[in-house]
Amino acid sequence: MRSRTVLLRFAALLVGAVVVLTGCGARPGGAATPSSAPGPVRAGAGVGVGKPAHAASDSGSLPRIAVLATGGTIAGKANANSAVGYTAGQATAEDLIKAVPGIDKVATLSAEQIANIGSQDMNDQVWVKLANRINELFAEGKVDGVVVTHGTDTIEETAFFLDNVVSSDRPVVLVGSMRPATALSADGPANLRSAVQVAAAPSARGRGTMVVLNDTLHSADDVTKTNTTSVQTFKSPNTGPLGYVDAAAVNFVQPVPQRRHSHFPVPSAPLPRVDIVYSHSNMTADPVKEALSHGAKGLVLAGVGDGNTAKPVLDALSKAAKSGVVVVRSSRVGSGETVRNAEVDDDRLGTSAAHFLNPAKSRVLVQLLQANGITDPAKVQEEFTTRY
Ligand code: GLU
Repeated sequence: MRSRTVLLRFAALLVGAVVVLTGCGARPGGAATPSSAPGPVRAGAGVGVGKPAHAASDSGSLPRIAVLATGGTIAGKANANSAVGYTAGQATAEDLIKAVPGIDKVATLSAEQIANIGSQDMNDQVWVKLANRINELFAEGKVDGVVVTHGTDTIEETAFFLDNVVSSDRPVVLVGSMRPATALSADGPANLRSAVQVAAAPSARGRGTMVVLNDTLHSADDVTKTNTTSVQTFKSPNTGPLGYVDAAAVNFVQPVPQRRHSHFPVPSAPLPRVDIVYSHSNMTADPVKEALSHGAKGLVLAGVGDGNTAKPVLDALSKAAKSGVVVVRSSRVGSGETVRNAEVDDDRLGTSAAHFLNPAKSRVLVQLLQANGITDPAKVQEEFTTRY
């Protein structure tokens, strides 16, 4: 998102707040907001505060939600020989659903096992399989929403990839957990229930791919993991969360976007190689040369500050950009915009600025651009700029 987009979002929020306070607006579900019902938008087409989160599907019965499982801690089980150790990706999709009492009252669920891996091993093959399956499910019209269970380490990258290749207005909700299924106070079952509630909610339509954990709902473009072990790890550092989930309702605090970005066709695997170069003090250009020697078609700088790095690295990046490699500057800071032509002269170097996308998501976008033959620096910049 660009600063203008962020400002627009804040402006929309302000307008939304005024509308709610004055009680004279229509909610995304289409029904007029009663003046006696201030507060965030509840799930369900025009339902009021306190009504159930789940709504009827297009077929008039409970919403139909497909749960596609890929592994992660949410499917993890403790190691018998260790006090803290566990192995991710052990439980199946059916096991996960069975662990959530009463979930059959929220939606009619189907379960599919796409993979069963820790998300540190997530890869192009699984992304492509997942995206094709989701598009197929939506095209067949057999589901009202999709939930993807996933490890938390790279959930933000998979969410961002899916958000760019699944074009349905029906929701795709990624969910994980920070504690394995066998832990005390395992958070997986509650998170899965939240994800199904969101996927089943009419007010979730038109919002693309989302991530839910610990009662909090995030957009694919802004969500990021911020803590190695805490259950409250996911944040949306630039825009704030999309909303919150409780046992009774899904409460969106941001409006449905007026206009969403365009989508790419699902590429075939493997996607073009794009590497991230992490900047630090006393840096040399060796990581850039190394990536290029392994055939990288794109490079993303996880720069210091506003996407900056040492002069020899900038020189090497510029040389790569001028030889046809897509080079994008992002920042290792964790929040804020990487601004084009501010500290670093992108016009002169042939580089593009990632704006609000973090390095991991910038890498995914560069892969998709390369896969679609978009390599000209001006066009690459336009894709980053118009997207976020
Ligand atoms: N590294 C594992 C994964 O991402 C466990 C982390 C988690 O799921 O929370 O799948």
